Amino acid sequence: MDNMLVAQNITKEFIGLTALSNVSLEVKQGEIHGLIGPNGSGKTTFFNVISGVMLPTKGEIFLRGENIVGLKANEISKKGIARTFQNIRLFKELTVQDNVKVAAGSRYNVSSIDIIFKTVRARKYEKEIQEKTDSILEAVGLASFRNTVAANLPYGRQRVLEIARAWGTEPLLLLLDEPGAGMNPKEKEELISLIYLLNNAHITIILVEHDMKLVMQVTKTITVFDSGEKIAEGTPQEVSNNPKVIEAYLGKEGHRVKN
Ligand code: ADP
Ligand code: MG
Repeated sequence: MDNMLVAQNITKEFIGLTALSNVSLEVKQGEIHGLIGPNGSGKTTFFNVISGVMLPTKGEIFLRGENIVGLKANEISKKGIARTFQNIRLFKELTVQDNVKVAAGSRYNVSSIDIIFKTVRARKYEKEIQEKTDSILEAVGLASFRNTVAANLPYGRQRVLEIARAWGTEPLLLLLDEPGAGMNPKEKEELISLIYLLNNAHITIILVEHDMKLVMQVTKTITVFDSGEKIAEGTPQEVSNNPKVIEAYLGKEGHRVKN
């Protein structure tokens, strides 16, 4: 199967600290790929580098064979990479619907300003953007909240809205940064269904998640980072039996990798 993403020898240095050290990773097209590691191991930095929020200090990143290092975040978004953030980032004052419309508009070069102020440009594509938004809200179970201001959504649903917004940009590759954080068991079940739904819509996914049970359930391949280095990769079973992985978790967080 073809690779969706190839990252080669990625190093990211901050002042006095190497957050990623010579990390290489391949994600196959259509895969749900897990990325785990103790706090501070470089997972979010990896997402920042892939999505163009930060430049790598060294290394190459290819999206379906095309080198994307040096492109701006909005250019990388147009190429097909979307992400969610560990700390939710929504337009908190806008409605659920408008949050998704802003994302859906990006495919028509319609800006957030166009959407909010209903400019001529936004009206030109109104029908397409509205239809796409409606279908996404329906699919993720947020249709009944369409007119709710994002800040007033329950926390778990804000996380779902972030995913909905990412979906609105029509990604080939979606980076999910701890989407299950703060969710109750029922919300996590719904999150799992949503991840499968996105994947069935041909979206390749990299999932960073602390809930080991959740990661092991939905991924076929897991990469493990520790202190900015890739220390293991394999099936959930292989990774959870890997002594290096157990050591990384026991040493740093004092808990076991659970099956
Ligand atoms: P993870 O997501 O795995 O918890 P991060 O990628 O957030 O890890 O962080 C990896 C390391 O890089 C940590 O030591 C963190 O403090 C550091 N780091 C992350 N972002 C920055 C930044 N913008 N400036 C300086 N150091 C950073
Ligand atoms: Mg993180």
